[in-house]
Amino acid sequence: MSVKYAKKMTAVISVIIIITTVFTGCIDDQEFYNDLDIGYDENYNEQYYETNFYDEEERDSEEKLGSAKELDGTTVLVSIFADDINTSWETDENEENMYKTLDYLSIAIEWIDENCNRYGVDPEFVYDWSQYEDLYYTTSFEYDMTYDEDDQYFSLNEYVETIVDSENLKDKYQADNIIYMVYYNNDYSSTTVSATYCWINEDINDYPYEIVNIYTRCDGIDENPASYAHEILHTFGAPDFYLADEDGQNYGITQEFVDYNEEICSNSIMFTTYDAQTGDAYYDKITNEFDDLVAYYVGLLSQCNEVEEWGLGKSQHIP
Ligand SMILES: [Zn+2]
Repeated sequence: MSVKYAKKMTAVISVIIIITTVFTGCIDDQEFYNDLDIGYDENYNEQYYETNFYDEEERDSEEKLGSAKELDGTTVLVSIFADDINTSWETDENEENMYKTLDYLSIAIEWIDENCNRYGVDPEFVYDWSQYEDLYYTTSFEYDMTYDEDDQYFSLNEYVETIVDSENLKDKYQADNIIYMVYYNNDYSSTTVSATYCWINEDINDYPYEIVNIYTRCDGIDENPASYAHEILHTFGAPDFYLADEDGQNYGITQEFVDYNEEICSNSIMFTTYDAQTGDAYYDKITNEFDDLVAYYVGLLSQCNEVEEWGLGKSQHIP
């Protein structure tokens, strides 16, 4: 459940192909995407920066908040079922497992919605790919997507940039925000935790897309709905409360604050996705807290005493 921010990369994309096709409906672009031959080669640095797909103006228009800006609006969530060199959705239980992610996503969305309501905000979410087919994608990456962050970062962002017609989807669903949920059908022996690429600023990120990686199984158990909610809240600016900020990428969370959360066995969704009292992961509900500090960081409160009290960093929603 750790948040991972995109690092400034020196690696580049060696082959740039501009895709003009507009996709609608269910998409299986596996063959097509493999043709992109995305890989990295230091020698192509110059070429990459000269022919980058998006332009700076477009990126600035993301208002420094990335593709998921304010919860007070409509958010479209695209679901991408990704194979990699070790995992595949092409199994007998394929469909059942895909629907399980939709079930968990819907529990997470409902929980976020209800908690936003407590703060007087009523967000709209469009995410049900069983109803809206153009929110459903499948693809295959020629990497180990649990392992190398550089490969993962570039291949995911290039995929989103070239294959997902984000602007069209935002227009169609009259959405202010777009989040990309990427699901891996990995097995229980995996220890890779779900992680999100969040937008902080252009010095750190190369792309404005906020991409959630859900590894559907980890350490012997299924990833639970609370983890989905935790990751989605990252895209709106919530930091991890269990991790001190060492490199300016976790909103100035201090070690003292992390220690305090441990001491009091905090049940905050940004501290734990297990129930703090029982230690269990739940699959039909979320029992964690959406506390004021979370609300502050995702833009639902303009201030929160804990920020000053613990000397924490400013929310991305505060100018
Ligand atoms: Zn996290």
